[in-house]
Amino acid sequence: MRIGIDIGGTKIAVGLISESGQVTKRRKVKTDAHKGYPGVRDQIRGLVAALLSEAGAGATDVGRIGIACAGQIDHATGKILFSPNLNWTDAPLKHDVEEATGIQTFIENDVNAGTYGEWRFGFHREASNVVGIFIGTGVGGGLILNGRLFRGSHGVGGELGHTTLNPFGYQCRCGNRGCFEAYCGGSYIEERVRQRLMQGYRGKLWDIVEGRAGSVHVGRIEEAYLLGDDLCTEIWGEVVEYLGAGLQSVANLINPDLIIFGGGVVKGTQRLIDEALLVMKRRAMRASIAGLKIERARLGDDATLLGAAFVKDE
Ligand SMILES: [Zn+2]
Repeated sequence: MRIGIDIGGTKIAVGLISESGQVTKRRKVKTDAHKGYPGVRDQIRGLVAALLSEAGAGATDVGRIGIACAGQIDHATGKILFSPNLNWTDAPLKHDVEEATGIQTFIENDVNAGTYGEWRFGFHREASNVVGIFIGTGVGGGLILNGRLFRGSHGVGGELGHTTLNPFGYQCRCGNRGCFEAYCGGSYIEERVRQRLMQGYRGKLWDIVEGRAGSVHVGRIEEAYLLGDDLCTEIWGEVVEYLGAGLQSVANLINPDLIIFGGGVVKGTQRLIDEALLVMKRRAMRASIAGLKIERARLGDDATLLGAAFVKDE
């Protein structure tokens, strides 16, 4: 069997996984992010030990630990070069987990792991050129090209969320202006709406959130848009147009067989993807989207665990 671990900024998920890809035992805890890298490293050690003892298994029963983590990974050393949401630089995670557990460990970027997990276990490798687009607080992208995970020359390719949709556009947290993520990431969309509420905007949205700007989220923005709220109609329209334009760029550049959409914003909205696809179809060159299949992610959080546990270090 294998162990898959997904280190997020707020939660760590761990799963014991059979060779056929069944998650047989799982645990989830809050990330001790405030304790920095050493604290989280010790949490991972403890979680692996707890999972093994619950399963009545030992280190020799586990072929591999796969860890998914947001950020840039050096695959040669298994170091996390930079993880903005955990605030780590040069964290020697592979070395430390191998030393603590005696189990061969592999580190992968979380969106790459999620894309690979969906492709292999959710879609059974049915397409060979696949783009995974995960829209949550930010926007992550993963690429399967010619049936292999594509990482780029230095392992940090596929950063779809930080491709530029508008060079004069909104400020992104990466430092660039007008990123895909700055237009389509949930936290950015919500922040724009919240600011307008703070500035005194009142409309149907105000009633929906009962006057609490803090409880604005993308699902409520969609609800207000569908009721004709002016602000939400304006912001929704902007998101749809930019998301559609981003998808058109992806389609023209990659000519994929399949795009898989996942993440909290995709799950929490009904019409966002369908409306953006209409924009993509309007903008894309016809041959670039011929036969393109669009699907929602099928495995939820398990995709990342499975992907981390099984992605090949090729
Ligand atoms: Zn950016």
